[in-house]
Amino acid sequence: MTSVEETGVLAGDERMLIDGELQHTAGGATFDVINPATEQVAGQATDGTVDDMARAVGAARRAFDETDWSRDLEFRYHCLTQLHEAFERNKERLRRILITEVGCPVKVTGSQIESPIDEVRHWAEHGRAFEYLVDNGVHDTPLGPARRKIHYEPVGVVGAITPWNVPFYLNVAETVPALMAGNTVVLKPAQLTPWSGSEYGRIVAEETDIPAGVFNVVVGNANEVGAALSADPRVDMITFTGSTATGRAILAAGAATVKKTLLELGGKSAHIVLDDADFSMALPMAALMACVMSGQSCILPSRILLPRSRYDEGIAIMAAMMENFAVGDPWDPANMQGPQISQTQREKVLGLVTNAVADGARLVTGGGVPEHLPVGYYTQPTLLADVDPDSQIAQEEVFGPVLAVIPYDTDEQAIAIANNSIYGLSGEVSGGDLERAFRVATRMRTGNVTINGKSHFGIGSPFGGTKQSGLGYRNGAEGFKEYLDAKTIGLPDQ
Ligand code: ADP
Repeated sequence: MTSVEETGVLAGDERMLIDGELQHTAGGATFDVINPATEQVAGQATDGTVDDMARAVGAARRAFDETDWSRDLEFRYHCLTQLHEAFERNKERLRRILITEVGCPVKVTGSQIESPIDEVRHWAEHGRAFEYLVDNGVHDTPLGPARRKIHYEPVGVVGAITPWNVPFYLNVAETVPALMAGNTVVLKPAQLTPWSGSEYGRIVAEETDIPAGVFNVVVGNANEVGAALSADPRVDMITFTGSTATGRAILAAGAATVKKTLLELGGKSAHIVLDDADFSMALPMAALMACVMSGQSCILPSRILLPRSRYDEGIAIMAAMMENFAVGDPWDPANMQGPQISQTQREKVLGLVTNAVADGARLVTGGGVPEHLPVGYYTQPTLLADVDPDSQIAQEEVFGPVLAVIPYDTDEQAIAIANNSIYGLSGEVSGGDLERAFRVATRMRTGNVTINGKSHFGIGSPFGGTKQSGLGYRNGAEGFKEYLDAKTIGLPDQ
């Protein structure tokens, strides 16, 4: 939990950063940024266009091809150290902007502000210590022995497209390892949360020596702006976090020029609660996790698989937690759940709950707007039981404070239900017998699994999805290598 030095709604910088210049779009068009906790306009952001994106990509291309950025490791280390210090200085400002544009409760902003700032330092050190030239030994060939060396080289121009749920964290996670590895970057933040991106641009321009063109931020309200980045032939790689539908569009757009693509997409993760689990530990936490980010988390275990032998007991524990959950003003440190990001998102969440009930699910609690919160896009924590594993609510990502409970009879059946999904991002297992829980975890077709609340997620370990949840990894040694190509050089063995 964080100590907050300053509070109150704060607008971010309106401008984007292209080729070293903080600027508005030509003509000066802007779009409104809405505070989801009040439904009021909190300020504006410049409405960048496809032309602005083309200029930013051109600047990044030039900076990669014509400057020493990609070859000067010590200079990159210097710049990212400056960036880390600058983020530290701007920490409270970034936190207030985050709460203003996302509605994230102040009490849980640590993982969205402190963690990514620490990660800048991590990537600077990791990138400095990385072995860019590795001797791969002598190999027999028909023409005699050849020594091979592997030279890790930056991919080139990286386009980073980010979503609105954890904007500052993902802006950092998608760009800092790319920069440290020697790439140049164009960041396109989500239109609902432009300021976490524009402030990053302002800080780079005003408080670091990162050269013009190496890092660009293009803010715009049209999806075409992100689409232009993902299709531009001058871009070598796209790194993206967001919905699976947009991920498919980005893959297709990059196909023409065979872009390297790193995708972290949707999830419908399952939490298998085994019959020997400690329900009093596992289930209040399961309910809490569904609420703290208003359910707007891709790794949220939103399907709870309960053994039929302890079904009613499990539902009662989660219902009690959700009925008493502190929802409201994100600036009040007593609240753990804020609003949904927008009216559209809340309508989508409530629509999926209505459909679930029509499909035969039982509404245990929630399903509407909290009575004491008529203003702001708030949603009641919602528990649905008796969910059909094939129904829409069990198959589609909700991105709201909604849990779908599914009963099962045997471990095998639970594994089959968990794997009955187009997604494979995360999973969770709770159980008293750790070996049994581990066996179940290895059978889940997902990129990551948490056992008994011990999180899989962190900067030191690879994170990525299987099936339609993504391609490639963030974090860990794997997450850095994503931004490098491995060039093998064969040479005489002397
Ligand atoms: P949501 O639907 O919840 O807004 P998305 O996955 O569509 O989430 O959006 C995530 C990011 O992808 C945003 O920055 C958005 O502007 C961008 N985006 C949307 N459509 C496209 C597209 N066709 N190509 C590239 N980026 C896109």
